[in-house]
Amino acid sequence: MSDAVAKKTIPFGRPIIGEEEKRAVAEILDGPILVHGPKAHEFEDAFAAFTGSPYATSLASCTAGLHLAYFYKGLGPGDEVIVPAQTHTATAHAVEYVGAKPVFVDAERETGNIDIDQIEDAITDNTRAMSLVHFLGMPVDMDRINALAAKYELFVVEDCALAIGTYYKGVHAGLLGDLGAYSFYPVKHMTTAEGGMLISKHEEVVARIERQKAFGVDRHVGERKIPGQYDVDMLGFNYRMNEIEAALGIEQLKRMPEFLTKRRENYEALEAGLKQIDEIELLQSTHGDFQSSYYCLSVILKEPLAAKRVDLINSLKEKGIGTSIYYPKPVPHLSYYAQKYGYTVEQFPNAARISYRSIALPVGPHLDTGDMEYIVEEFKNTITEVQ
Ligand SMILES: *Cc1c(COP(=O)(O)O)cnc(C)c1O
Repeated sequence: MSDAVAKKTIPFGRPIIGEEEKRAVAEILDGPILVHGPKAHEFEDAFAAFTGSPYATSLASCTAGLHLAYFYKGLGPGDEVIVPAQTHTATAHAVEYVGAKPVFVDAERETGNIDIDQIEDAITDNTRAMSLVHFLGMPVDMDRINALAAKYELFVVEDCALAIGTYYKGVHAGLLGDLGAYSFYPVKHMTTAEGGMLISKHEEVVARIERQKAFGVDRHVGERKIPGQYDVDMLGFNYRMNEIEAALGIEQLKRMPEFLTKRRENYEALEAGLKQIDEIELLQSTHGDFQSSYYCLSVILKEPLAAKRVDLINSLKEKGIGTSIYYPKPVPHLSYYAQKYGYTVEQFPNAARISYRSIALPVGPHLDTGDMEYIVEEFKNTITEVQ
């Protein structure tokens, strides 16, 4: 441990909650309506407008949205879903919830997105859907995905947890496949503490999921002439967003244009500085008409530096720089999946390269380009120190 006091404190992620958010939440707490109120609808309309979606429905989490996607499609035992190996465990868990089987496909080396060249080999007669993750905000090549979806008649689910502000050929993520699920968990692009949103270009998808997220009742509270006057004609969950979360979300969404600009500026500054370092490789962050949401900057450590990853992370921490790993293991290497389906650590080498050799650096709107210069400088110093 060095005795030097860190010159800066740069957390990996930190929600930006201002007076507007506090006032909006306080107003809800002062009022009588905590659930089933106007704020959830107001947030849905604002989110739809932001993404250019015709339909949106608020949710308890992104994971709830992914679960509802397969539930909506009626998937179950015997059905298979193509899932990227390099993602959050929620992407695969959502498939397991309905009893279907996730079939993992490795990442492409350049971006960390699913390797589209390997998808056809993973498709069988039982494949019903594909799940795509815009890795760290970089869009998947959705024209190629949709061509496969058309050929094999597959439902296309976009896990958009890190994709607010992700555009592919000018279209916002979530409107490229059949539906998209978003996350408002604290370290994502914006927060409602816990929370999610589902958007779709298909009216019937959102209309049905709106009921499936609320026990399957056939009438919203506002549509009932007499309290308790409703029927239930389908199974459903309790996956709603409450009014406190929605009030927070409305205020956070207003800040999104500024948040996204800051992320891009920070990313570009950090990328420019890190590009000069020989011991590392960077994932591709721009490509033609692909617009990333710049969630974070993932640095891949070349050998022999890769063996020093823990030392590097600790040394950066001493210098006040918070880091993360996206994601710590390829999902099929996690015990639950490895044991259930017999995957080995030799499989999914590109996803493994990211999981086991990368460090994710922060570019969030809580930081500025001065912080990025500090990260670059200290990253270089740290490499010299650990070698
Ligand atoms: C964070 C994350 C999720 C989970 O989001 P919740 O809102 O916490 O359910 C799902 N998928 C990806 C890719 C994520 O990064």
